[in-house]
Amino acid sequence: MRNIPHSAIQEAKAILQDAHRIAVLTGAGMSAESGVPTYRDAQTGLWEKYSPEQLATREAMSNQPELVWSWILHQARVMRSVQPHEGHKALGRWQKQLDANGGALEIVTQNIDDLHERAGAEVLAHLHGTTFTFRCFECDAPSDYVLEDATEEQLEARPELDQMVLEEPPACHSCSHGFIRPDIVMFGELLPQQAMDDALEAVRTADVALVVGTSNIVQPAASLPIAASAAGAKVIEVNPNVTPLTEDVDVYINGTARNVLPELH
Ligand SMILES: [Zn+2]
Repeated sequence: MRNIPHSAIQEAKAILQDAHRIAVLTGAGMSAESGVPTYRDAQTGLWEKYSPEQLATREAMSNQPELVWSWILHQARVMRSVQPHEGHKALGRWQKQLDANGGALEIVTQNIDDLHERAGAEVLAHLHGTTFTFRCFECDAPSDYVLEDATEEQLEARPELDQMVLEEPPACHSCSHGFIRPDIVMFGELLPQQAMDDALEAVRTADVALVVGTSNIVQPAASLPIAASAAGAKVIEVNPNVTPLTEDVDVYINGTARNVLPELH
């Protein structure tokens, strides 16, 4: 375990012990610690010939639905094969405790996996959507399709591209011609407005915004800590690397979510 700066932890704890409403913003670093590859790192094995920008678009899904659907299944299976870490679990416990005391810990995430939920936490807003709910690509009707957990063979399969068996996306039950897609935000698509509104409300009413494992580069998510600060919240950042936000936060803790979050609560 790398050394966590003790004084920064103490400073953060002093702020957090008086906080009734905490907004937690999580990014890719949080999931990466569980072994979820970042979008770019995930392009291994049979998918290394494709970039996410090529696959996660409406155009690709329209032109090559089987290819995109099979890639989505692959991503989803990888996400489901890893487990939440101590940082996810700490947030789950913390949320329940604040909830029982009339406070709130609201989680806003840029991650499209379900690691927070599997650690027992409720997520207020998935800013970039989620891989595990679906809707129709054509008519937008919600789908009750449930993704089955991957088998060992599916996870370990690394066939060459020419041997790749592509799967057809399931049909929509609401219209006669559509197929389903996950509720993720594809390249070129707007963020879900409701999620963004909920996230803004959470940071504006928070006593503290805790920013964890996010690069603070991708907009509009990067504007949330700034909105929190403008509304009077203290901002605490947890990240093993400095980000464009670091110089403006109240406390910066140089460490990872897995090591730091259990220390804060
Ligand atoms: Zn449909």
